[in-house]
Amino acid sequence: MKNFIIFGPPGAGKGSQAVILAKRYNLKHISTGDILREEIKNGTKLGLKVKSLMDEGALVGDDIILEIIESVILNSKGYSGFLYDGFPRTIYQFQVLDEFLQKIGYKTDAVISLVVKEEILIKRMLRRAEIEGRADDADIEVVKKRIATYREQTEPLVEIFEKRGRYYPLEGDTTIEQSFNEICTIIDSLG
Ligand code: ADP
Repeated sequence: MKNFIIFGPPGAGKGSQAVILAKRYNLKHISTGDILREEIKNGTKLGLKVKSLMDEGALVGDDIILEIIESVILNSKGYSGFLYDGFPRTIYQFQVLDEFLQKIGYKTDAVISLVVKEEILIKRMLRRAEIEGRADDADIEVVKKRIATYREQTEPLVEIFEKRGRYYPLEGDTTIEQSFNEICTIIDSLG
């Protein structure tokens, strides 16, 4: 089983790439954001617990996220691997994922990072708000808070990824198709 992380700030295009990559390589697409939004939509206990944090652009607790991830990994059958989208978002999340994958005989095969300028991220999220209706995209203050949260809590992961290798930063300010082709070239080169 292959394990790929698609990494980058909110609005970088991780979700768009993840959907088409998952199809192409028969990967289970694990979007923690989508899973949490589904919980909120269904009014579950978990949904209620995470809603206010998501609405304000803060991160949900590591324990909640890690429980979701482990359960999805253990309960997915018939895939050639996993594609993590919006996860890991903290150093701790990555450490736990790494240990967990080792324990079950896998590793992180590649981290693909989409690099996009801040002004473009903001524009994209505001536009996405009109299409998808996500409350956390519609409010410019929440959008900025999410970018700040990313810089503080998620971006420090880059140093760890760089040290470990198999880290591929890509210019994300291109078309969906161009990024997709570049990512496919990377994945195909890994064998
Ligand atoms: P985006 O990358 O566009 O911000 P996501 O759908 O990945 O959107 O995440 C939406 C929100 O869900 C985040 O702002 C955060 O509150 C919560 N969330 C998603 N994934 C994680 C995670 N791995 N750790 C903590 N919080 C998360």
